[in-house]
Amino acid sequence: MSKVKTTVIGSYPVDFDNLEFFKNYSNQKLTSWNKNINVAVDDMIKAGIDIVSDGQTRDPFVNIFLRKLNGCRIRNRPEIIDKIEYREPITVEDQKYVRSIIPKTHDVVGLIAGPYTLMKSSVDLFYNDEKQLAFDLAEALNHETINLQKHVDLISVDEPFYSVEMPEYAKELMKTVLKNVNITTRLHICGDVSKIIPDILGIPVDILSHEFKAKPKLFEHFKKYDISKKICLGSVRSDDIRIESIDEIVKHLHKGNDVFDGNIVQISPDCGLRMLPRRVAFEKLKNLVESCSEVYG
Ligand SMILES: [Zn+2]
Repeated sequence: MSKVKTTVIGSYPVDFDNLEFFKNYSNQKLTSWNKNINVAVDDMIKAGIDIVSDGQTRDPFVNIFLRKLNGCRIRNRPEIIDKIEYREPITVEDQKYVRSIIPKTHDVVGLIAGPYTLMKSSVDLFYNDEKQLAFDLAEALNHETINLQKHVDLISVDEPFYSVEMPEYAKELMKTVLKNVNITTRLHICGDVSKIIPDILGIPVDILSHEFKAKPKLFEHFKKYDISKKICLGSVRSDDIRIESIDEIVKHLHKGNDVFDGNIVQISPDCGLRMLPRRVAFEKLKNLVESCSEVYG
């Protein structure tokens, strides 16, 4: 197997049985939900993806976490109504299930919605102090990350909001989320990160993941810096139904090699694939895998 692994950022489009969806929505019954996870994982395995996710099929990304934390309730938007505390494992059972259905040759990525993005996606009716709320969320997520690391091969913290606004305490926040975490870590930020590259480089994670396919100008921006971190190269778009050809992806990977030298360790879609039709998502993953083996062998 190639040294460079193919992987995903997180979500995968799964069509629900509507009736069953509403029946399960409130009680989050696990076993009947497993068949949605099966669809996502089976597609990823069939496409040849090395490091798979559970497809984040349960809820929108932030709600998966906020729904299960003390101090938060979900209305139209999530609302913070009390001190944030960790109550129980959030994604651990799903990840254990993923592990149980994939071949031993494949790995699992554990997905954590970043504390800053969770904070910015919520209506705060309790703290009136963004920083304190962000750090309490980070503490709660640290419990989840510690529980998760026994069952996954990689932890990906997703902070899409950083492309809009990155606080000066971002480094400390990540340290809090990853305290006592000993496995490989990845930070995913989609959007235009060209202005925050020096700040991102200071975040204590092993791998950086950005959307280089939708934002090819990022190559020029990253070129200006000495990049010692490992890179997960976004290589197919997650916001466009056009399926990139293998030739096109191969060219993109060569461009990535020119800029990052030997630092590319993973290639992936730009972001979660949730918004695409399932057939399109699958074809994109398949072409990603074929391009990877063409370039990295
Ligand atoms: Zn993203």
